[in-house]
Amino acid sequence: MQTKDILQELRKKHNLTQDELAEKVFLTRQAVSRWEAGETVPNVETLKLLSKLYDVSINTLLGSPQKLICQCCGMPLDDSSISREPDGSFNEEYCKWCYTNGEFVYKDIDSLLDFLVEHMHGDRAEFEKHLRMLKHWAPAE
Ligand SMILES: [Zn+2]
Repeated sequence: MQTKDILQELRKKHNLTQDELAEKVFLTRQAVSRWEAGETVPNVETLKLLSKLYDVSINTLLGSPQKLICQCCGMPLDDSSISREPDGSFNEEYCKWCYTNGEFVYKDIDSLLDFLVEHMHGDRAEFEKHLRMLKHWAPAE
C-alpha cells in the first residue's frame, strides 16, 4: 500500500476529519489533503507525531519500504514486535524482547548466544556469525 492510502485509511479508522487531524499535528488541512493526494509526504517530525497518534511505526506509515530486523537478535520486526521507548514511542531498530523499558536485555553477546543456543538449538559459531553482522554487535570501526 502507498503512503497516501495508508494515511487516509488510518485517519478514517480513527474517525478524524482532515481538519481534526491537521490540528493534532499542528498543520493546515491543506497539508493533510496533499499527503492524501500523494503530492507530498509528511516530514520526519510529523511522521513521529502520526506514529504516536496512530500507534503504528514510521515504517508502516511509509508503506513498509524497509524490511526491519532487530539489530540485536536479527528477528524480523513488525508493529507488534518493535520495541518502544519508555515514553511509548517506537524504537524501530530493536525487538521488544531485546530492548525493554529503555534498556538492552542482553548485556553482552554471550548472554544472547546462550539464549539462542538453548532455545533455537543451533550452532553457536553460526549464530555469532549472524549476530556480528547486526549493528548492535558489529565490531567497532
Ligand atoms: Zn531482538
